[in-house]
Amino acid sequence: MRIARFTTGDEPRFGVVMGDVDDLGQPDDDTVVVELAGDPLFAGVKPTQTEHRLADVRLLAPVIPRSKVVAIGRNYAAHAAEMGHDLPEEPMMFLKPNTSVIGPGDPIIYPPQTQNLHFEGELAVVISDVARHIAPERATDVIFGYTIANDVTARDLQKKDVQFTRAKGFDSFCPLGPWIETDLDPQDFADGLAVQTYLNGDLKQDGSTKDLIFDIPTLVAHITSVMTLLPGDVILTGTPDGVGPMEVGDEVEIAIARIGSLANRVASRD
Ligand code: MG
Repeated sequence: MRIARFTTGDEPRFGVVMGDVDDLGQPDDDTVVVELAGDPLFAGVKPTQTEHRLADVRLLAPVIPRSKVVAIGRNYAAHAAEMGHDLPEEPMMFLKPNTSVIGPGDPIIYPPQTQNLHFEGELAVVISDVARHIAPERATDVIFGYTIANDVTARDLQKKDVQFTRAKGFDSFCPLGPWIETDLDPQDFADGLAVQTYLNGDLKQDGSTKDLIFDIPTLVAHITSVMTLLPGDVILTGTPDGVGPMEVGDEVEIAIARIGSLANRVASRD
């Protein structure tokens, strides 16, 4: 199932996206969203009789993390190399505030404090249950599904501050969407899921989740050995190589095979 959060101009609701979707996750013109009663993370998936054409709704971030976004750095060897880092011996994690989350089509705001704003296309994991001390073999039990994230980063502030709170934590620095794919296990695909980032239509990142240094079960086990994950928390799994700068007016689109694509434009604060 593809679980979306959307609005038709009033309060946000959840829905299931129904219809043909191609291998890149692109829906066709007949795709509809069937409204759900309540938040499926807490109420289960309860379809109502109401449906909308996908083209007639505005998609929102498919989840607002109740507590946190846990992000993993340097989880692709080629990206660690382009940043000048050795390979990590264990997952390197940091937090992004839940207030950094925005949805498909929302503007990424270019802060005045940076001169080097970067995109990072990433596979994102949405957590379904209270999760602590989860063994890798049990990781799928606490995963609701998968979506796409842009781990927007002020690269100059990341270097200047040493730690990442400011560089990764501005409002709008965590686009998520377009929906949560619940019938997918990236571990099932020997070639992984293609992760591609386009800047103004030009391919900039062309990676695959098969190149994750630490796979998703390992990440869930590692994170939950440190902190409890709550339903709706999100894990960003790291970015492939090819990261680069965005300017005001640019459109950045991240496509992940079998999920879909997430597009946002960069805007100035004023
Ligand atoms: Mg990242």
